Amino acid sequence: MAVTATDPITAPAPKSVSILGSTGSVGCSTIDLIRRQPADFHVEALTGNSNVDLLARQARELNAKLAVVADPERYGALKDALAGTDIAVAAGPEAVVEAASRPAEWVMAAIVGAAGLAPTLEAVKRGATVGLANKECLVSAGDIFIREIERHGATLLPVDSEHSAIFQVFEFDQADKVSKIILTASGGPFRTASKADMAKVTPEQAVAHPNWDMGAKISIDSATMMNKGLELIEAFHLFPVSESQIEILVHPQSIIHSLVEYVDASVLAQLGTPDMRTPIAYALAWPSRMPAPSPKLSLAEIGSLTFEPPDLERFPALRLAREALRAGGAAPTVLNAANEIAVARFLAGDIGFLDIPRLVEAVLDEIPASEISTLDDVLDADAEARRVTRLIS
Ligand code: NAD
Ligand code: MG
Repeated sequence: MAVTATDPITAPAPKSVSILGSTGSVGCSTIDLIRRQPADFHVEALTGNSNVDLLARQARELNAKLAVVADPERYGALKDALAGTDIAVAAGPEAVVEAASRPAEWVMAAIVGAAGLAPTLEAVKRGATVGLANKECLVSAGDIFIREIERHGATLLPVDSEHSAIFQVFEFDQADKVSKIILTASGGPFRTASKADMAKVTPEQAVAHPNWDMGAKISIDSATMMNKGLELIEAFHLFPVSESQIEILVHPQSIIHSLVEYVDASVLAQLGTPDMRTPIAYALAWPSRMPAPSPKLSLAEIGSLTFEPPDLERFPALRLAREALRAGGAAPTVLNAANEIAVARFLAGDIGFLDIPRLVEAVLDEIPASEISTLDDVLDADAEARRVTRLIS
């Protein structure tokens, strides 16, 4: 007798998942995939920063066991919004870490910025499989993060589209036959803009990305191309290659998500329409695959794909990130923290667009690239860089 997927004995148990940052762009895309296949998943914990209405709706719809809001002031509002359900409610940064410690097999790390470091590490420490969208974790604390992954036998699956692409075509059992990896970059909304034009850019113009619909911080990072700089450092930690083996290529259509070149001059790439549900689905179903509702790729309709080298003069953030990676120690931590504050200052209308890389460079010059051996070293360097970036003009 044929065994079907619905056979009560052989059907795989639903995968238990938690989503850190469920109310954001990546979080909502993850929920969209889960809601299309509810029998395959069981939701342990959801967390958000302050949007309790959306968080409560998600928790009710997916029947989560726990909903956590990071802003402690929103505890009452979340409790009210979930009254009459048996969903547990908590608030505050420690409660977000506690949510990550809940026994979900698979955890989506989709909090933005270094705020995601402690909760993501908590999931790592109990050996979970982590879908990593939060690139700032790896930029800020790369060596320590990878050490913890190895120590606790956790599994790290890249969600960033470029790193998901490389992960899919990287032959890990013959890594020494890889000659380089090529990260593609859309070039962002100001790919062809002059520096004079960029100086006048408003936050509204800078968050409007031509290809991807994302949260505000990563959208600004894409416009300065710091996003690709952060991804360079992320790739260095995720794949067994040296800094000089990672190349950046501007590809405005965002169809080829990245490439791996081998010693025989063969190049493997992963392609798809620019929709985060594809790399999220890959991580969610790994090592299998699941359907995603992303539009299918029609190369005939697109007609042509174009490429150009990045312009380090108009986009100094790319140079700064590479220099920070080469310098090592606290430099990437400082780069990331200074960038987070500079982006927040730009969004608040306090500094101009070109001031973002200018401030990051000034802070990197001011703070020595001290050694990093512990998580406390990371947190100290991060705090110092934030303090200096808030004061500098
Ligand atoms: P977003 O701003 O849309 O969402 C961020 C999430 O983090 C929200 O749920 C928010 O409530 C939560 N959050 C914010 N500050 C917090 C804090 N201090 N404590 C706890 N929670 C907090 O961002 P996003 O676009 O979904 O990006 C999330 C991460 O994924 C970023 O690191 C980004 O670089 C990365 N990423 C995003 C995309 C994308 O397409 N959006 C693609 C690749 C990588
Ligand atoms: Mg990316």
